[in-house]
Amino acid sequence: MKYNFDVLIIGSGAAGLTAAISLAEAGKKIGIICKGVLSEGSTLYAQGGIAAVLDSEDTIEAHIRDTLVAGAGLCDPEAVKFTVSHGRTVVEWLIDHGVQFTQEQTPEGEWRYHLNREGGHSHRRIIHSDDETGKSVSKTLVDLVRQFPNVEIFENHLAIDLIKHEGRCVGCYVLVEAGHQIHTFTANAVILATGGASRAYLYSTNPAVSSGDGIAMGARLGCNVRGMEFNQFHPTCFYHPEARSFLLTEALRGEGAYLTLPDGSRFMQRFHEQAELAPRDIVARAIDHEMKRLGLDCVYLDISHKPAEFIMQHFPNIYATLLEYGYDLTKEPIPIVPAAHYTCGGIVVDTHARTNIPGLYAAGEVTSTGLHGANRMASNSLLECLVYARAAAQDILASPMVSIDPKTIKPWDESWVQDSHEEILVTENWDEIRRFMWSYVGIVRSNNRLQRALDRVNLLKREINEYYGHFRINRNLLELRNLIVIAELIVTQAINRKESIGLHYNIDYPPSSKNQGKIA
Ligand SMILES: Cc1cc2nc3c(=O)[nH]c(=O)nc-3n(C[C@H](O)[C@H](O)[C@H](O)COP(=O)(O)OP(=O)(O)OC[C@H]3O[C@@H](n4cnc5c(N)ncnc54)[C@H](O)[C@@H]3O)c2cc1C
Repeated sequence: MKYNFDVLIIGSGAAGLTAAISLAEAGKKIGIICKGVLSEGSTLYAQGGIAAVLDSEDTIEAHIRDTLVAGAGLCDPEAVKFTVSHGRTVVEWLIDHGVQFTQEQTPEGEWRYHLNREGGHSHRRIIHSDDETGKSVSKTLVDLVRQFPNVEIFENHLAIDLIKHEGRCVGCYVLVEAGHQIHTFTANAVILATGGASRAYLYSTNPAVSSGDGIAMGARLGCNVRGMEFNQFHPTCFYHPEARSFLLTEALRGEGAYLTLPDGSRFMQRFHEQAELAPRDIVARAIDHEMKRLGLDCVYLDISHKPAEFIMQHFPNIYATLLEYGYDLTKEPIPIVPAAHYTCGGIVVDTHARTNIPGLYAAGEVTSTGLHGANRMASNSLLECLVYARAAAQDILASPMVSIDPKTIKPWDESWVQDSHEEILVTENWDEIRRFMWSYVGIVRSNNRLQRALDRVNLLKREINEYYGHFRINRNLLELRNLIVIAELIVTQAINRKESIGLHYNIDYPPSSKNQGKIA
């Protein structure tokens, strides 16, 4: 089956849907494909909110400064300025499109948006919908995009590979799992909005769709990819055998929660002057350090010294979820561990969201815009999704349409492959990659560990490519093929970075800057 659109959007998180709605409003014929249902993706799980300068006491300069400090000197200042200065516009765009953010009443009786403060931010600037911002943004955009007659939605469709024709990206081959069909989608412009790659690690806060498919597809097509060594580990993921990937938002520490050892003592002040409000990589490393030093399975997050009413009012979803697992946030410390959370690196784009391949745009976590540098500051990522998705839409609308003749694109050819009879090889390889990435390329790295990881990557790459060449594809195999590309990019870029900086911490290169924090 063949489809043709003005714009094909791969991914339906904050980035994909913002681009889709912006383009659909301008009358473009849009196709959206997504791996699962429309709402599934990291966007849905975002708790904290969106960073933007909205308070009269706050300034664009302060937000830029905080972002540059968190990025440890590796941000692209132009990208930072571009993103931060569009903060208010994109938040207003969301509000205009129906997103309900939490409000509070001033002492004078007026209503205004409530702003949280999170790690690394010098002001309160996180606009949020209680502690379920992602759900609120996702639901609003999903409901809206379904109303456009000029948008066709393809759920449970997996992008396999982008198609290049005469040097230009012109579409994508797509697997429809049910019935095992492979369709050819063509378009005048393609936007990759496939999210991050944190599922390359054993423990991750991300949903299953975050296997880095877009970054891997882009790399195979010839896109520039950078910054993959900067994977952010969220310090506070709930530690419970039955609660997979449940995150305890940064805003808890912003509102005064302590990190404690099993004896109730705090430890963050030994690692950074901002203690619990230090940038999250420093917090994650400090936790990792204390866990390894004391042989602990977890440490604790404790906000029980705050009034119960305040906690329940500010964190209703977290409070209710923890209660289901037998923990009362208002009364006791909660066990936590760090987990892979955010991919700072990705496909390089300019401030128009253009990649280096004509016809191909990218927005959201799949990209490296230069905003995050060596470390992402909390709540800057949804902001980036929105700003760059809007930029992509604007650039597409302003550019002359380059039409392609879908007939010139060859359909997918599976004539030489057979059904797999050893699915176990795929699941074993999946598991192996995620384990060695966690152990050797995780929060704390060394040259030795990285070399070991590279040896495994090379071995598995051969196995996987051989398997891919002989057997009929399915979701597991496609993701595995992408994961090994992601693992290779992370490992090789980590090896090439001969310093410890931001999120990349290699014990063979002791950190030189204050931003690294002290690891005793
Ligand atoms: C638990 C959690 C909490 C967070 N909290 C915050 C926060 O408070 N503030 C903040 O700014 N950021 C937060 N983040 C980060 C932020 O949510 C993400 O960076 C952002 O939502 C990414 O949006 P996206 O549109 O790029 O991708 P996603 O929302 O991840 O969407 C990816 C889309 O791509 C699709 N896709 C992927 N591969 C394929 C394929 N091969 N074929 C077809 N479709 C594909 C998926 O189905 C999905 O539709 C959080 C992340 C997590 C996991």
